[in-house]
Amino acid sequence: MSNPIHFVSLGPGDPELITLKGLRTLRQADLIYCPATLTKQGHTSRAMEILKDLDLDESRISPFALPMSKQRSEALQVYDKLFNDAIRAYQAGLQVAIVAEGDAGFYSSIQYIYDRLTEAKIPVRRIAGVPAFIAAGALAGIHIAKQEEEVRVIPGTASSASLSAAIERKQVCVIMKLSACGEAVKECVRKYRDQARFLYFEHIGTDKELHTSVPEEWLDKKIPYFSLLIVQPY
Ligand code: SAH
Repeated sequence: MSNPIHFVSLGPGDPELITLKGLRTLRQADLIYCPATLTKQGHTSRAMEILKDLDLDESRISPFALPMSKQRSEALQVYDKLFNDAIRAYQAGLQVAIVAEGDAGFYSSIQYIYDRLTEAKIPVRRIAGVPAFIAAGALAGIHIAKQEEEVRVIPGTASSASLSAAIERKQVCVIMKLSACGEAVKECVRKYRDQARFLYFEHIGTDKELHTSVPEEWLDKKIPYFSLLIVQPY
């Protein structure tokens, strides 16, 4: 039988932030499944941009398009097809890799396929990668957590009240999927700007990268999907 199906973490955007193990696995793969997002303007894929920058043979890359909407049922249909296609390729003896941005096990819906393949007794292996918030810390040169500090990661469900409570408890927060909770977070930034440092990041590791600790530079902006906030209470 073939090698396990590999789930390869690509890192947040800078192609050099993939691991050596991830890159070697992709170079050896016969078939690389790559997520894309279906938008009104067509397909966009951060993962595909990373793969192209790594000079991988494009004829071996197979994109699968996930709908933007939160309708889980539509995404599940795409995943069902990917699951069946990946099994067929594996059974035909191909070396199969499935990629995901950042770390493939951190807020990464692709883990659903990993779990289903495991249930189907198909061997799988995941290769760890750099999550976006870790790259953000490096970019800003900050110590994300020190000494006894706790870090709380909030995935786009942050309410102004829950974030306020965390700041008052002096808890460091990482807010992922910021575009999904932008207004609540902006309200909190305005209220607590003297009690915490708010570090805003978007498109880390790409030529559109932006990071700032000055709220005025982003509070009136439309927040893109690839953005996150690190909150450090004083
Ligand atoms: N698996 C990814 C997270 C996927 S969830 C990881 O390990 O980082 C998607 C969220 O991750 C985005 O909404 C954003 O909050 C964050 N994100 C991923 N890549 C990013 C980037 N290059 N710049 C800023 N935020 C990013």
